[in-house]
Amino acid sequence: MIAGSISKITGPVVIARGMAGAKMYDVVRVGRWGLMGEVIRLEGESATIQVYEDTSGLIVGDLVESTEHPLTVELGPGLLSSIYDGVQRPLPVIAAQTGDYITRGTVASALDRERLWKFTPVAEVGQSISPGDVLGTTPEGQTIIHRIMVPAGKSGKIATIIPEGEYTVDTVVVKLEDGTEIGMTQRWPVREGRPYGRKLDPGTPFLTGMRILDTFFPIAQGGNAIIPGGFGTGKTVTQQSLAKWADVDIIIYVGCGERGNEMTEVLAEFPELEDPKTGAPLMDRTVLVANTSNMPVAAREASIYTGVTLAEYYRDMGYNVAMMADSTSRWGEALREISGRLEEMPGEEGYPAYLATRLAAFYERAGRVESLGSEARIGSVTMVGAVSPAGGDMSEPMTQNSLRVTGAFWALDTSLAHRRHFPAISWTKSYTLYLAGVRSWYEVEVASDWQAYRDRAMFILQKETELQEIVQLVGPDALPESEKVILEVARMLREDFLQQFAFDEVDAYCPPKKGYWILRTIMAFYDAAVGALNRGVSLRQVLELPIRDNIAGLKTTPHEEAITHMQEYVGTLAEEIAGIEVL
Ligand code: ADP
Ligand code: MG
Repeated sequence: MIAGSISKITGPVVIARGMAGAKMYDVVRVGRWGLMGEVIRLEGESATIQVYEDTSGLIVGDLVESTEHPLTVELGPGLLSSIYDGVQRPLPVIAAQTGDYITRGTVASALDRERLWKFTPVAEVGQSISPGDVLGTTPEGQTIIHRIMVPAGKSGKIATIIPEGEYTVDTVVVKLEDGTEIGMTQRWPVREGRPYGRKLDPGTPFLTGMRILDTFFPIAQGGNAIIPGGFGTGKTVTQQSLAKWADVDIIIYVGCGERGNEMTEVLAEFPELEDPKTGAPLMDRTVLVANTSNMPVAAREASIYTGVTLAEYYRDMGYNVAMMADSTSRWGEALREISGRLEEMPGEEGYPAYLATRLAAFYERAGRVESLGSEARIGSVTMVGAVSPAGGDMSEPMTQNSLRVTGAFWALDTSLAHRRHFPAISWTKSYTLYLAGVRSWYEVEVASDWQAYRDRAMFILQKETELQEIVQLVGPDALPESEKVILEVARMLREDFLQQFAFDEVDAYCPPKKGYWILRTIMAFYDAAVGALNRGVSLRQVLELPIRDNIAGLKTTPHEEAITHMQEYVGTLAEEIAGIEVL
């Protein structure tokens, strides 16, 4: 056994001597409470440890024991609907054991050991199996079939397999001919990506139901995006709206509380949310990883890895998984604090020089993959990280380093939020690298001219920004009617298309087809208006037409009904406008 003693304590970081043989990232137990920690630096016999729990009361000389294993999570039935801390301790179970706050050194099993799972075998005695093969299934929640898979490193011929029945997670499912046992659960080190067969090109969009994202800045299943934004611009509302509506099977939501009570709100609200697709609780297909701001920084540092490992596990079963991290800036601060305690050479704004490589390694774990196993499944992990730059200043290191390694940038704009334009996602600063990849999906599933309407609408919005600068200098009257109409149509695009109220029953989710038809209707209005102006009709006459109010009401009209209206409008609009007499 590797055991040493504390030689120095600085906040969450402890140095222990006599740790010869310890390995980087091994989990250790520190002091008389057996606090959980992880080796993050080794120098001779001295190990530097980040401790996941409050270190006050530890003294020099206290015992430090290595478990000789890296930080792992337990993977198996019962993960869904769980609420964990950053090192996979189940918060509700711990709260029940120890009262409101976590007593230090508490050990609690991540999965319920008593609960029975209805297991159906799909493999047979005599079958040769290898990692990734499915041995059996058990329903988890109302919609998810949990596949019990052969873990990495195990293969051989099945000697025995349990028959259909009800079992706990501690059951041995299969014995191989060489005596190897495979259970219902497996463990995986969180800092290592789980293996897969091969990565696939991203081609299917990750539909969010938010018009601005699905139309202008779509990402692919298996892609990654960041949502940077100052305080109160809508990061949390957007992440939760994605959790509720995004077209995926499983949600892993990692919350790093920005304010003291924010995670408490999330913990109270999430279990109340209903899955709009099934009416079942959203938690049935969700895992929450929660860090409140009073939890030690090291647990926060670990939490995003715990989250992504859970995501990869469901990906390997063949599911589309979305992982949200709100906010990754709190993770960055944890990294910065620990690096400071280690007295490492600070990089930009005190962040360690390895911030960029850590972020790259994290976001690289997104992807759409073919699983291991003889019958490969296709699954994906899509990652969406919120970033909270102080004062909304996006030149800071977390935003800049994150945007370099992610495929989409959904920039929240403080001035839009102040004007209560929600979602406050900037159409001038945001971008996506996935458009070319998902375009053909939209052309087949939505409309063959989808991209043309998207590009025309974007052009009008960009033109508006230019024209507004002129208006600011010389006033609106200086513009010719052909440009005033652009301002009017841009306003329609902003108010009737881009703005979307997350709390409206209908408008909270917009299917891509409806989004397309709204754009198409607004652009049909524009074309007809330009035609009328060319005939000598005044802009005022065009704007008086009732069709404008009809367009404004579309987003809150039930989807199918709205689409039917719009198909009609597009047919009659030109006629209606052509009917205006020149005064
Ligand atoms: P952040 O997490 O960036 O600090 P929040 O997500 O908490 O900000 O949003 C702050 C407030 O902005 C919300 O309480 C809500 O009133 C408003 N808001 C943000 N996004 C939307 C939206 N899409 N629809 C309606 N209101 C929104
Ligand atoms: Mg927030």
